[in-house]
Amino acid sequence: MSKSLYIKTFGCQMNERDSEIIEQLLAQEGYVPADRAEGADVVLINTCSIREKAEQKVFSLLGQLRDEKARNPSLLLGVIGCVAQQEGERIRDRMPHVDLIVGTQQIYRLPEMLARLEQRVTSREIAINLEASFHIPPFQKLLVNASPFPASSGFKRFVTIMQGCNNYCSYCVVPGTRGREISRPMADIIEEVEILASQGVKEITLLGQNVNSYGLTNPVADLTVSFPELLRRVASINGLQRLRFTTSHPKDLSEDLMRCFAEIDILCPHFHLPVQSGSNAVLKRMNRKYTIETYLEKVAGLRRFCPEIALATDIIVGFPGETEEDFQATLELLSLVRFHGSFSFKYSDRPHTHSVNFLDKIPEEVKSRRLLAFQTLQDAIGLERNAECIDKEVEVMLEVCAGDDCKGRTPAHQMVHFNRQGLPLAPGDLVTVKINQAGKHSLKGDIHLKH
Ligand code: SF4
Repeated sequence: MSKSLYIKTFGCQMNERDSEIIEQLLAQEGYVPADRAEGADVVLINTCSIREKAEQKVFSLLGQLRDEKARNPSLLLGVIGCVAQQEGERIRDRMPHVDLIVGTQQIYRLPEMLARLEQRVTSREIAINLEASFHIPPFQKLLVNASPFPASSGFKRFVTIMQGCNNYCSYCVVPGTRGREISRPMADIIEEVEILASQGVKEITLLGQNVNSYGLTNPVADLTVSFPELLRRVASINGLQRLRFTTSHPKDLSEDLMRCFAEIDILCPHFHLPVQSGSNAVLKRMNRKYTIETYLEKVAGLRRFCPEIALATDIIVGFPGETEEDFQATLELLSLVRFHGSFSFKYSDRPHTHSVNFLDKIPEEVKSRRLLAFQTLQDAIGLERNAECIDKEVEVMLEVCAGDDCKGRTPAHQMVHFNRQGLPLAPGDLVTVKINQAGKHSLKGDIHLKH
């Protein structure tokens, strides 16, 4: 009889991809996906510790699942990902109903760990594996060779090209939770994308903590190429219609990568380039290793090669020591670059980071006020950016329809709502939509023509 698996994923696209990999690994062991925790045989919480709030949500969900575990003692409950990596022992002490705690680099061991737990003798045994392994886990290759991807995988997929990070930004947990940077061999990536394309996947997003440094700091350097070269090779695979990547560190953004936007047809004109602050003093304390001047040069370079490129960014407000002047510099940067979108957060102390020890913490109410001011300005700019599309025809890749009401994304990653007017469309189809309304976060228009 098949066993059911429910995975709740918090945080970033890296985690989403890890959850997909786990689903694929466990599908090979006979697991089928469940759409809720209640009644599932195995529940895994894939956690994120990059913000305090995300971590609190994990502990609150684990608390709620205590009742489910009491109702269904054979349920196997696991915590994986960054919180597991960082807080493994604390989870064991605080949440004794958890059966399994697995760090970021050990997810490929899940099938054997679950098999062991199923045969355990006493209910007090739990399985923990938080080992750091600075090599490319073999599971990705195994999956490529041995497993068809689930039918539910749809028309767009993430492909991990590297893991870990060497940058040690002073506020960030990632080098601690995901380890040092390592790139996958190019041949594995190409093989995975070829399989996906042959299964009808049309859009690929190459994933890594800092994709710009793909192949640069690598024990298997002779098996990799530069990131721009990897993009060119992936783009030449038959069947792909859109190519994206995320995330990038500004210091490693090369002119060769900028040129890719002019040369590679299927590379979408959308670039997520986290700046974090508009103040050089704050950037220095964040250990970001660039200045606003060099950041702006890179923005100008991108726009030279691709004038229509949509830029998005990440901002942290209220970093320790951030003055009103520093914050005004962030608002000025926003007005100058006019990002199409941004993810903005209040600074929060994260365990084991350098900035925890900074003394000049900003009061919560000041952080809240700054965040609101930033987001109000970003919303106004986002609306203006979207309004630039009015009366234009844009290409939209359909994501989902509810009746005739459909939505999909432009190459610049804007969400577009439209009515399909009875046309038999499927997710992944490309349509042309003439935009007639713009909101802060999305566009509306009329379908023009099916491609
Ligand atoms: S570049 Fe900085 S913020 Fe990004 S993952 Fe690495 S350490 Fe964290």
